[in-house]
Amino acid sequence: MAGKILVKGGLVYDHDGDVHKPLAADILIENSTISAIGANLPPQQTSGAKVLDASQHIVIPGLINAHYHSHDTLCRGLFEELPLEYWLLYTLPLGGNRSKAEVRLRTLVGALEAMRCGITTLQDMLGLIPFSEENIDTVLDAYAEIGERVVFSPMVSDIPAVGMIRNSNMLPPDIQEMLGTKTLGPAREQIDFLHAQIRRRPAAGTLHWACGPFAPQRSSPELLEMCADLAERHDLPVYTHVYETRAQALIAREAYAKYGGSFMNYMKSCGILNRRLNIAHSVWITREEMDMMAAADAGAVLNHNSNLKLKSGVAPILDMREAGMRVGLGCDNCSGSDVQNMFQSMKAYCMLAAVSDPAPGPPLAREALRNATLGSARSALLDDRLGAIKQGYKADLVLLDLNDTAYLPYNSAARQIVYTETGRGIDHVIIDGRVVIENRKVTTIDEAALRDEVRSLMKNFIPEYDRIVKERSVALPYLLQAHESVWASPLKLHRFLSRTRYDS
Ligand SMILES: [Zn+2]
Repeated sequence: MAGKILVKGGLVYDHDGDVHKPLAADILIENSTISAIGANLPPQQTSGAKVLDASQHIVIPGLINAHYHSHDTLCRGLFEELPLEYWLLYTLPLGGNRSKAEVRLRTLVGALEAMRCGITTLQDMLGLIPFSEENIDTVLDAYAEIGERVVFSPMVSDIPAVGMIRNSNMLPPDIQEMLGTKTLGPAREQIDFLHAQIRRRPAAGTLHWACGPFAPQRSSPELLEMCADLAERHDLPVYTHVYETRAQALIAREAYAKYGGSFMNYMKSCGILNRRLNIAHSVWITREEMDMMAAADAGAVLNHNSNLKLKSGVAPILDMREAGMRVGLGCDNCSGSDVQNMFQSMKAYCMLAAVSDPAPGPPLAREALRNATLGSARSALLDDRLGAIKQGYKADLVLLDLNDTAYLPYNSAARQIVYTETGRGIDHVIIDGRVVIENRKVTTIDEAALRDEVRSLMKNFIPEYDRIVKERSVALPYLLQAHESVWASPLKLHRFLSRTRYDS
């Protein structure tokens, strides 16, 4: 249980203070909350506290991964070179109808990796098949066991997965079936079930709920309206995938013509485009749609490394900044990027903005760090308690060892955290006032036992993966054709760069 802890003498990172040379201070944690911060806290206030020596450390707010899926953590390292639509062909079946042991292990594996990398909150947009109480309990119990904070949104959708492919009705029926022609059930049933789960296991401690319609093209207007209503009644954030690929922008133009060819207009007409909404990826969004998002105080969660690896393109970061859109950062799937590492996400945020425009200027490292903490917290409507080190905020803290070579020499906290740190400097992590990593050792679970369990599970998982890849290879020529037709169709948006073939 969390008690009273004094994090003593660290350089405490303050978004609004000196981000290059943060000042040393003590942080007093009582139960799950930061109760005081100061250079000279009175002894009577700190008496009885367990002391954590943070001298020679920078203390940063826990990083918040605002877009993640725990269903494919075991698929890490299995895929390469596949654009998103092909990758879905293989990863979807490996995520559904899994044993209880596997659901528990995959949740722990992702949470452990996140925690070790300083991610104290995961927004888990989980594809849960079947959508059952037992599965929900297995996942939430695993998060509670390891002590990772979760913003949990089991995904809902009432249009089958094959709808992710443009002109999917042209595909042979067996290929359509392979890509997914079933849904989790009628919209009303799914929303009622989700509602019942939120009441059964109410948000408390490290559990927070969110509403997660998979994507506009996988959601009927009724489903989106129900999600908007549920979110309003329970004060929930909403996360959905929008404009991840060029194909998705074309689907909007062609199949949503009555909404002006725009998913933003579609979502607006369903009442879901508001301050609760967060769209993951947002690579192929137009400038007008960015203005709509900003006006609604809706935000994007950017997942650059996943977009790069799955060949989706580069999100228009500088335009989003100009439009005044709020932004959080994420890492996306373990088989998509293939790592839960927000240091990589923060660095990519700055670097990809830099290759979008040669003019000197922002975004700066401090902005990347703010987006990876406060920006992601805001996406979950939790920025009044997460994302900064302040009195009254939750005690989600990460200690970075200044003796790591990332800080040799130590010139700027913000810049070296974003451009130099890899996660290697992390030696202590506190979540909700509980020390979950102490001197690089996880305190909540037996990590060696987890490794053994995963190793033994993979003995069956890999042959199954091999079989699925073999069986499904018949779909590849059709997907290739669909992919080529996407690239042959005009769309006045450019999200790729540095290819001489396109120079003229
Ligand atoms: Zn995703």
